[in-house]
Amino acid sequence: MSLFQCEVCGCRENTALSWQGFRMFSDEIDWSYAPEREGKRLCSACGPKHFKNGEPTNCGRWHDKFERVFLPLGMFVTNCRGNLAHHETGDENYRAYALEVSNV
Ligand SMILES: [Zn+2]
Repeated sequence: MSLFQCEVCGCRENTALSWQGFRMFSDEIDWSYAPEREGKRLCSACGPKHFKNGEPTNCGRWHDKFERVFLPLGMFVTNCRGNLAHHETGDENYRAYALEVSNV
């Protein structure tokens, strides 16, 4: 279980709440809702609502397990501790870079 940055909206997400970011399930997902997102690491809100077989992912909306913090897109990586770190400085204090916090 670790944190990562969504490659579409830039928010902080947890792998356990978003099918590991969907990338490893890419072949099983119905991407018709947003074909450009295929192969990207996605948060629960940017992720698909359905698999190809019609089963719901229970995503396509924010999970509300923690607040949604938006960060500058492409600026954060997952470090060896499973935390988000700034890709240039290694700074784990991602909140200092937060653009917006939303609970929806
Ligand atoms: Zn997202």
